[in-house]
Amino acid sequence: MKKLPLHVKIIIGLVAGIIWAFISSSLGWNEFTINWIDPFGTIFIRLLKFIAVPLVLFSIISGVSGLSDISKLGRLGAKTLGLYLITTVIAVGMGLLLVNIIKPGTFLEENQRVKNRISYERWVQQTPGVPEPKDGRHFLTDPEFRSQVEEATTGDELAAIDKKNANVAEKMESAKKTQQSSPLQFLVEMVPENIVLAISDNGLMLQVIFFAIFFGITLALIPGDKAKPVIDFVNGTNEVFLKMVDIVMRAAPFFVFALLAGVIAKMADTPAEVFEIFKGLGSYSVTLLIGLFFMIFVFYPLIATAFVKKLSYKEFFKNISPAQFLAFSTSSSAATLPVTMECVEDNMGVSKSISSFVLPVGATVNMDGTSLYQAVAVVFMAQLHMIDLTVGQQLTIVLTATLASIGSAAVPSAGLVMMIIVLQSVGLNPAWIAIIFPVDRILDMCRTVVNVTGDATVSTLIAKSEGELPKYS
Ligand code: ASP
Repeated sequence: MKKLPLHVKIIIGLVAGIIWAFISSSLGWNEFTINWIDPFGTIFIRLLKFIAVPLVLFSIISGVSGLSDISKLGRLGAKTLGLYLITTVIAVGMGLLLVNIIKPGTFLEENQRVKNRISYERWVQQTPGVPEPKDGRHFLTDPEFRSQVEEATTGDELAAIDKKNANVAEKMESAKKTQQSSPLQFLVEMVPENIVLAISDNGLMLQVIFFAIFFGITLALIPGDKAKPVIDFVNGTNEVFLKMVDIVMRAAPFFVFALLAGVIAKMADTPAEVFEIFKGLGSYSVTLLIGLFFMIFVFYPLIATAFVKKLSYKEFFKNISPAQFLAFSTSSSAATLPVTMECVEDNMGVSKSISSFVLPVGATVNMDGTSLYQAVAVVFMAQLHMIDLTVGQQLTIVLTATLASIGSAAVPSAGLVMMIIVLQSVGLNPAWIAIIFPVDRILDMCRTVVNVTGDATVSTLIAKSEGELPKYS
């Protein structure tokens, strides 16, 4: 057992967690699992998260202050953001392509879809500011659809639809108020007001990055003898946090077991229930998974091995799989970040000055899996409601899903909440996120793997282009 490589042990933990969850739910032990096993999963995520912020802080300062010339930073920044943007747009495009070909939303029974459409049209009528359906059809008023409408709904049902819409509208109103801000708000929010606050709040990673880069540049501009003690301190502390990651990761297989057992035990009481949850949303889940698997197994390894000739397909996965398994188990790019950094530096051989900058930025803004998911989910929901989105609307989705994925925090379910913006941008009901909620956690695990793999791939490409990938040149 001792000799097994870490990623194999993690897989064993993962599979054992799933098996345990099924056994425990069949035997009615779910409460035991939730009370006595799940907390270890939470401990694991907390450990990784508390390491992530100081690690980002010290590794960026150490990387930036060690750069031979500071102008390189501008170039690195431009390349990083450019590549992140390109991969995200490709991911959204892939999502749109798949959901338009497979059309998972049309698998639902026709009558139910007509009902959904009516509910949508009444919501449009009743909610101020929502645009009319762009596909030009009006089921409620058009005689062409009268027989379909009559067949699908009774008067009582219409009243129920209205009531549900009104309830939801009330809830959404309070959420909406917080969203109005200047288009430059994201820039404003990148600059910390108080660095201690920024470091203490998990959601403010970009502020920590901003501070660390600024600190590193300033440190590099200070004469050597004055800067030296600070640089030594930063480098030394950075080593301590890296070692902490090592220590925590030794126990990762057990923690991953606890996480998986807990997640599944909380989802359902019996294995049959788990299958039941997926049944109705099966076509959607499969469409999304095809897209996510394509990114993981085809897109990233292909561009990485094409660009880095000496890197083989197998090695690509061998190098980064611990981070991938962790992303899957924790559903959080932020919690996975310490391990992503370790894999990319130690296994892939990317220089510290690149990985310390590219990966933390990526964990915060680059979420290819999330953007692909948002595209698939929004079009799926439109299909469920018999709404044909126009080409213009689909292009709007490309834009808003890209922005929403950038804005999503690197924590579980963040992508689901941000999807509200995408839905609103094409005039759809934001409350529909509730439809896909039951399967979201499992799919979140998969899209987080894509998010993390995307970051690792981009950092490898940038290191190669900067001549800082000695292992494979
Ligand atoms: N859980 C994802 C992440 O941390 C974000 C999302 O919900 O899509 O990368």
